[in-house]
Amino acid sequence: MSRAYNFCAGPAALPQAVLEQAQQEMLDYRGLGLSIMEMSHRDNVFVEIAEQAEKDLRDLMGISDDYAVLFLQGGASSQFAMVPMNLLGDGETADYINTGQWSKKAIKEAGRYGNINVAASSEDTNFSTVPLQESWNLSDNPAYVHYCPNETIGGLEYSFVPQVGDTPLVADMSSTILSRPIDVNQYGLIYAGAQKNIGPAGLTLVVIRKDLLGKAANNVPAMLNYQTHADNDSMYNTPPTFAWYLSGLVFSWLKKQGGVGNMGEINQRKAEKLYHFIDHSGLYSNPVEVISRSRMNVPFVLADDRLDKPFLDQAQAAGLLNLKGHRSVGGMRASIYNAVPEAAVDALIDFMAEFEKKNA
Ligand code: PMP
Repeated sequence: MSRAYNFCAGPAALPQAVLEQAQQEMLDYRGLGLSIMEMSHRDNVFVEIAEQAEKDLRDLMGISDDYAVLFLQGGASSQFAMVPMNLLGDGETADYINTGQWSKKAIKEAGRYGNINVAASSEDTNFSTVPLQESWNLSDNPAYVHYCPNETIGGLEYSFVPQVGDTPLVADMSSTILSRPIDVNQYGLIYAGAQKNIGPAGLTLVVIRKDLLGKAANNVPAMLNYQTHADNDSMYNTPPTFAWYLSGLVFSWLKKQGGVGNMGEINQRKAEKLYHFIDHSGLYSNPVEVISRSRMNVPFVLADDRLDKPFLDQAQAAGLLNLKGHRSVGGMRASIYNAVPEAAVDALIDFMAEFEKKNA
């Protein structure tokens, strides 16, 4: 067996130790004679797994009892609708910051439910910058302010946490959650699809301040109401049990790696190396302003796009997978989440240097 280095944006690389443990526990979970996937979610064994996963996540992120942690389905894309369905009252306005493709999708979806004010946008720089907060035109009394701290496609990351006073701050952390320490207390609601830094696809995480529960209108379906899931420990219906279990293994792995503090330092080093190499090469470039470059998703283009295909073919042959950029922007993208080791980034840089030399 040989495992390649996987730079996929999502579903993304998982820690090998986690996959090995899941493999070991697959057929016969701890002598019970069945797998996790075949067990009732009401079984004490599963309930314990679920509770431990939540506890480990709370430890890792420093989530206090003021917040509910929800293990949902539907992807981050469902949150684009659930956020306004639950937090945007009749006649109220929500503020959104537009910094890329994912912000745009969130804005478009929210527009179905109420008044949306796009308080700032960097579309005019082709999303290569994050608008400084001084330039934002926030509403007088918005229901919440929504932003995407890390734009997975553009590789654009905020270098600051927006300061919005008492207004709930809502963040789509799909591609940045658990990559470094964050102060959860600055947020009203955080959501993330699991398939990058959390676990396999199929699970969506929501961390919501409890005072924001119970605001949905009566016609909001039970499944789309945060209160339903908070009241039922995310087991109102059958949750994605295997994804929840596997995410729990990732949380426990993260704790063993020294938590998000240590992970953040490693991630910083990985990203700095790769950007430094790109900036000093003659063939590769990255368009994002230096202060707003993503530590998780590093897009780059080759000076001659006729080299794109040979680059990708040769990278794959060298065991460096999924470097193709998002279909909407082209070029390349290396996603370097927690489970992508520093050695993978070193191998990528070596390959890129060699490819550049051969094609000079
Ligand atoms: N937001 C961001 C920042 C993302 O990166 C993605 C997925 N790549 C999504 C939302 C959509 O997530 P999902 O596919 O889980 O709906």
